[in-house]
Amino acid sequence: MRRIPASSCVLPAFLCLVALAAPASAKDTAASEYLFHDAHFHLTNYVQQGTDIHKYLEIMGDKIGRSTLFGIPLQQTWSYENSGDFAPTYYLQSDAPLYYYSFTDAYIANAYLKLRPEQQRRLDPMITGFNPADMYGVDHVRRVLETYPGVFTGIGEFTIHKEFVSAKVAGDVASLTDPALDRILEFAGEVGLVVILHNDIDMPFAKAGAEPVFLTQMKDLLRRHPKTTIIWAHLGLGRVVHPVQGQATTGTAERAPRHGEIVEAMLTDPSLDHVYFDISWDEVAKYAVSSPEVAERTARMLNRYPDRILFGTDNVAPPDQATQLRVFNIWDPIWAQLTPEASHKIRIGNYERIFDAARLRVRAWEKANLK
Ligand SMILES: [Zn+2]
Repeated sequence: MRRIPASSCVLPAFLCLVALAAPASAKDTAASEYLFHDAHFHLTNYVQQGTDIHKYLEIMGDKIGRSTLFGIPLQQTWSYENSGDFAPTYYLQSDAPLYYYSFTDAYIANAYLKLRPEQQRRLDPMITGFNPADMYGVDHVRRVLETYPGVFTGIGEFTIHKEFVSAKVAGDVASLTDPALDRILEFAGEVGLVVILHNDIDMPFAKAGAEPVFLTQMKDLLRRHPKTTIIWAHLGLGRVVHPVQGQATTGTAERAPRHGEIVEAMLTDPSLDHVYFDISWDEVAKYAVSSPEVAERTARMLNRYPDRILFGTDNVAPPDQATQLRVFNIWDPIWAQLTPEASHKIRIGNYERIFDAARLRVRAWEKANLK
């Protein structure tokens, strides 16, 4: 049954109670159940253009219940010297640098503040416009909370290592060992902000059988912040940062399930209890359904650890609902293999648990710490 907050019921009070208490028929339930909440969604693109917020609520419609809301903090420079009249909108379309465009947070907050309260309740805005290689980065996060109290639920998606992107960012190169990053994660833990972190587990085109280069640093970083709720985006994968393979079995298509083992080892490690994974991005979906064997293995993992995994689209500025649902549908072969409980948690339940808790904590911190 779709959630109707009692406070938003427009009927006389006693009728509201009746409506809320009435059990939905099986048909109603099926018709009104949302497909998912979107734990990973970009309203704007690499040049700060995107979907109008009202249009996005229309796109969510009766299919997507709730959604995170963030832009992309990295702005692609349009360098006339580099691409002339061609205006790049994606980081692969230009050799010119990316830079941190902090105004994205004001843009997201202002869009959110234009909405009615019942529309706002469906969204969880996130702060992204800080430089994680700057010791002052954390001050930006605090300043955004001070400027827009009552708006934000978390920080991210922000990026440390990402194929083709990290090297293009103007200024210092981000690092998992940078104390500037520790300050940000520490502060997020103190406030209760959910963190969505993109960090490729490995370098592009890594050799099969080798230890993923950023895995140890990533685990060390996560362990340094046990009080911070951190979602590792895309299971640590990228477009060319493929699922880690076991020792190469040359000439066969069979891949040792090493990436799954790495993720499982983290999910069973008590020192990483505060860590979650999102399975967003169509690139990740493509790996997951690349063969019936891989799909089955992925489904088995999701069924085993349903409390720690969230679905998200990673869509950027979608024009319509069909586009917004495409990534969800790629997962169909896997949805079909999940238990109803696991499926519900990954699509809906975990989002509500994690983001509702964060909302409460952040609002309480704001009340206690902001004048
Ligand atoms: Zn993303």
